[in-house]
Amino acid sequence: MKRVARKATRQQTRRHNSRLVLKTIYDQGEISRADVARATRLTRPTVSDVVTELMEKGLVEEVGHGPSAGGKPPILLSVTDDSRHVIGIDLAAGEFRGGVVNLRGDVKHQVNVPLRGRDGDAALTLVYELVDELIAATDSHLLGIGIGTPGLMDAMNGVVRWAVNLNWQNLPLRSLLQERYGLPVYVANDSQVAALAEYTFGENRGGRNLIVIKIGHGIGAGIVLNGRLFYGDTFAAGEIGHVTVVENGQQCRCGNFGCLETVASVGAIIQRAQAIAQNDPHSLLHQFAASPEEITVDVVCQAFEAGDEAVRQVILEAGRYLGIAVANLIGVLSTRRILIAGNISCFGEAWLETIRQEMVQRALAVVARKTEVGISSIGPNIVFLGASALVLTYELGLFAPLVRGI
Ligand SMILES: [Zn+2]
Repeated sequence: MKRVARKATRQQTRRHNSRLVLKTIYDQGEISRADVARATRLTRPTVSDVVTELMEKGLVEEVGHGPSAGGKPPILLSVTDDSRHVIGIDLAAGEFRGGVVNLRGDVKHQVNVPLRGRDGDAALTLVYELVDELIAATDSHLLGIGIGTPGLMDAMNGVVRWAVNLNWQNLPLRSLLQERYGLPVYVANDSQVAALAEYTFGENRGGRNLIVIKIGHGIGAGIVLNGRLFYGDTFAAGEIGHVTVVENGQQCRCGNFGCLETVASVGAIIQRAQAIAQNDPHSLLHQFAASPEEITVDVVCQAFEAGDEAVRQVILEAGRYLGIAVANLIGVLSTRRILIAGNISCFGEAWLETIRQEMVQRALAVVARKTEVGISSIGPNIVFLGASALVLTYELGLFAPLVRGI
């Protein structure tokens, strides 16, 4: 038994060293073996062995010489960005989006397929078709498939507990895909992976803690704490969309009344804009949409920018309610950065300022003053990029915080 335990430990150390060296080269861009040894505090021979192994796997390559420090100029190492690819999928409302993504988060191939009301088994078939097409589009070694899905997830077991729009209940999505494709599969909630995308590929990546509030058909927050995605005990961390913010408010699709989603989601805003268009023949909305049914977020944005007062009230009210949610989040987690993702961010600075003002009024001033609320730097691919980052984190350890010398 002892020998088995010792062997397992040696394997673990090897794996840890390999991940640590790969992550160091990845983070530095170009670096010599000697500098990898310095940065990781591993011995030179250990680094050389690990680098040889990584080069044999095609993950790392020599890319020329660095400046000489007196002696022979050192050989520089770099990660081969396209040596591995990942499939990332976003099961968004209205359309499924997918991409083939390399180790740097570059999208090599992208496919969007409209959902056209499909749910249940038909929606699952669409996932298969999307993955088939993406797999066919790459010749590179595939590390796995990452999926960001709306609804409640058991991320540990890859089971979609409840996704209302897709009519999925207790769907073992991970095992279904693993069996079909023979690849590792990771599934998590879409807002949660959006936070991971921002943390790994965003303009302000790095830091320890980050919250991303994703506003779409639903509203959810993804929380990264100490460099790790925080799921919570019930995997529902950040489910702020169904917290009541309006007393005696409108009924929500979850059955409760006055949820944040009923006043600040894309659906809620469009519904309110439609009501304005129906009741006011002079509304500026009519300039941008032929009928209330054709009102989209873009149309509402245009009317907002053009100065439609009724639309402005709806948008700023949504901002105030989001401010309440932000105040609660920072009250609990005290993070410095909160970013908002989703096409609703087209409402811009006036809307953001409303969120900030409400946050400052409702949280301890000393905390709120240090919190920055901004717009996510990643566009509409945020969820499938985050799902890809999930695969890269688990399969290669590229973004997980690593502790030296286990
Ligand atoms: Zn609700």
